[in-house]
Amino acid sequence: MRGIYWHKMPEFATLNFFNNTEKLPNWYWTGKTKMNCLKDAIKQSLTFAYAHHIQRLMITGNFALLAGTDPSEVDAWYLGIYIDALHWVEITNTRGMSQFADGGIIGTKPYVSSASYIDKMSHYCGTCFYNKAKKTGDKACPFNSLYWNFYDRHESKLAQNPRIGMMYKLWHNMKPEDKTALLQQADYYLKHINEL
Ligand code: SF4
Repeated sequence: MRGIYWHKMPEFATLNFFNNTEKLPNWYWTGKTKMNCLKDAIKQSLTFAYAHHIQRLMITGNFALLAGTDPSEVDAWYLGIYIDALHWVEITNTRGMSQFADGGIIGTKPYVSSASYIDKMSHYCGTCFYNKAKKTGDKACPFNSLYWNFYDRHESKLAQNPRIGMMYKLWHNMKPEDKTALLQQADYYLKHINEL
């Protein structure tokens, strides 16, 4: 990470592979969300200035990327709240590994997941307001529809990635009505992101 920092800065701090422009949801600064995983990871981060690598990468970072957040907003958040956020280690991990804004200089694929990975790696889903098993409809976990929305939105940039091909096979084999329902659910959540 230090080597990439010295080799690629200052341009690295401006990379935005997906051209993401959204603001970070308001609740990243309060922890006031009904999503149990984000509520816990954010409140812990704001209270102790620390979170586990998986909380940073697969909960807060994962959601920010699925939500199309401007990587500069994500950088500012990680830099602002973590006690160990030295610039050289923060920006390479956040903009590179977490947000894939470097297009693959550091990572080989974007680190995004639906609820099943979060459920496997944590105890969050069992007591969540949202239903980890639901992709659409009332109380469907937002990660599930946003995950497929992410792949659909960025197909032209990701379809050739050999580590992702299988996901596009699954996506293309889904029934058209299921795909439409997932994209509509994601669109609704993105439009109401501060209320999730
Ligand atoms: S159900 Fe979804 S929002 Fe709730 S804790 Fe699990 S992954 Fe997070």
